[in-house]
Amino acid sequence: MRYTINTFNEKFPDDDSCLNYLFEQAYGDMIACPKCGIINPSYYRVKNRKCFECKDCGNQIHPLANTIFHKSSTPLRSWFYIIYLFSVAKNGVSAKEVERHLGVTYKCAWRIAKQVRELMNQETGRLTGIVETDETYIGGRKRGKDITFQDKEIVFGMVERGGKIKAAHVPSAGARILLPRLKESIADGTTIYSDQARVYSTLKRLGYLHDSVNHSAGEYGRGIVHTNTIEGFWGQLKRSIDGTYHCVSPKYLQSYVTEFVYRYNYRNQPVFPVLIASAARRVQ
Ligand SMILES: [Zn+2]
Repeated sequence: MRYTINTFNEKFPDDDSCLNYLFEQAYGDMIACPKCGIINPSYYRVKNRKCFECKDCGNQIHPLANTIFHKSSTPLRSWFYIIYLFSVAKNGVSAKEVERHLGVTYKCAWRIAKQVRELMNQETGRLTGIVETDETYIGGRKRGKDITFQDKEIVFGMVERGGKIKAAHVPSAGARILLPRLKESIADGTTIYSDQARVYSTLKRLGYLHDSVNHSAGEYGRGIVHTNTIEGFWGQLKRSIDGTYHCVSPKYLQSYVTEFVYRYNYRNQPVFPVLIASAARRVQ
């Protein structure tokens, strides 16, 4: 099951096909015209305008209104193409790449990339089964050979084995920050594996089954007790931030984390159809 560039080109050869798609996606299941109330209304495309009109009452619908495409001077198909690029790029897409592909200014390219990333912000249900939790430290200035943790940003993550991941940029790795997030994100009674950070010592009292690996003693797992899944995710996140985005300011770190959480959560299916469908619906 792949969504190749050929599939993309066949489905979306031009701006019109993109506009038709957006209309179908957002209004295709309209039971009655919102203005005249006629059942199974037929809406036709108004020539040379980005809108559709009811055959019976003339009511007009603008499918770009309240979407990321609204009031953009970038052609619709260019937007679709960039969304396609994001959907297939395992390591992300930098604003520089968007700039090169579209021939737009860096500022415009940056804005487009930011809005595509916002589409990736999705709510997922509580994790269950076996969940691995961990924190990681990202960024930081080098001072000679030392990188102090104070200069780094913390990302907290929880992954259900064989399921979804949740991760967030957090202000500290203390219990007051992590535990409320953990309670909210992981179903009661779930088995949690972590390292031996002090913050996890109360998990049993919070109603979870808990076991840990002692990384400082050189232990990386005992049978099923390990945190390899979340560490694999951190590795991917860091490689992408280093390789594609080079450095990320703390202000935007969450949006990159969101992007890689999304990629992980849709790892078993083509991402483009999901992403473009949310672009059609999302109200800004
Ligand atoms: Zn009507």
